[in-house]
Amino acid sequence: MFSVIELYRCVNLVERVRVAFGTGVVLGIWRGQLAVAPTTAHLMTYYEGRCNANCKFCPQAQGSTTDLKMLSRVVWPQVELKKVLAALGKNSNEFKRVCIQAVNYPGVMDDLCELVARVKSICSLPISVSCQPLGADDIRKLADAGAERVSMALDAATPELFERIKGGRYTWEGHLQALECARATLGDLVSTHLIVGLGESEEEMVWTIQLLHDRGITIGLFAFTPIAGTFLSDYPPPDVASYRRIQLARFLITNNMDRVERMRFDDGRIVDFGVKRDVLNRIIESGAPFHTSGCFGCNRPFYNESPRGPIYNYPRKPTSKEITVIQGQLSNL
Ligand code: SF4
Repeated sequence: MFSVIELYRCVNLVERVRVAFGTGVVLGIWRGQLAVAPTTAHLMTYYEGRCNANCKFCPQAQGSTTDLKMLSRVVWPQVELKKVLAALGKNSNEFKRVCIQAVNYPGVMDDLCELVARVKSICSLPISVSCQPLGADDIRKLADAGAERVSMALDAATPELFERIKGGRYTWEGHLQALECARATLGDLVSTHLIVGLGESEEEMVWTIQLLHDRGITIGLFAFTPIAGTFLSDYPPPDVASYRRIQLARFLITNNMDRVERMRFDDGRIVDFGVKRDVLNRIIESGAPFHTSGCFGCNRPFYNESPRGPIYNYPRKPTSKEITVIQGQLSNL
């Protein structure tokens, strides 16, 4: 009787995979200078066409004209899978996690299961899969192949924005149901992504963070990043001070230190976190709310911003100088 991993070792149908630039540097596949090394090895399914979906911010979308090497502002060259697995086998101690991002195309589930099983066969790192909304059977298949976590990106903070930005192939309800279903299968090991700056208010974003947290979903916060060739290429990135307030609210909510009902908003903007000022100051000084958020061990360096700044998600502990800048950005509270 073959185990799932042994079975995939015999089949070996996936030949190529995309590798995020920083991951390729750490793996020694190519050379480059990194301001901060990624703590997650980021891989993406390789597909010759465009994604079946049409998320308006995404370079891989149906309606985008961006080069298929791009996801957010990161370049993901294609590499032979065998070469990536050999490099990952040798260098897995450089990472805390592997994340396999999936484009939506026919047959993607088979490719994902094979990728997960083959990564699992060469290292003991936990594996996240970030993909389209799946049903219970597919979630189970991924878990059986060796995925530790599954992430399905809600991205937008309200049903109306979801429809405008991701509508057509996906629905808000469908995504929430898929997250719920994954939760029933994987327990606490379910993640989602939210993008700040798609047109929502801070209040709307924070209510959605609370809703997801109450359902036991881990939240990775992203800042909208305009990419040439996408539908939203001319749309501006979010205001940094607003992003800081949302990061702080996410941190308080997900650490069960606060709830949205205790916060006060004025015209959609957070004006009171409902937490004592000295407590809030200590939390801000720690820098922790401003780290990259999401699955444990994921720092996604400069996924949303140039290393020259402004930095939205700090891929390492902010320095004391950076904390002073952050305190200035939050001074209007
Ligand atoms: S938080 Fe990081 S590891 Fe988790 S799904 Fe998102 S990109 Fe992948």
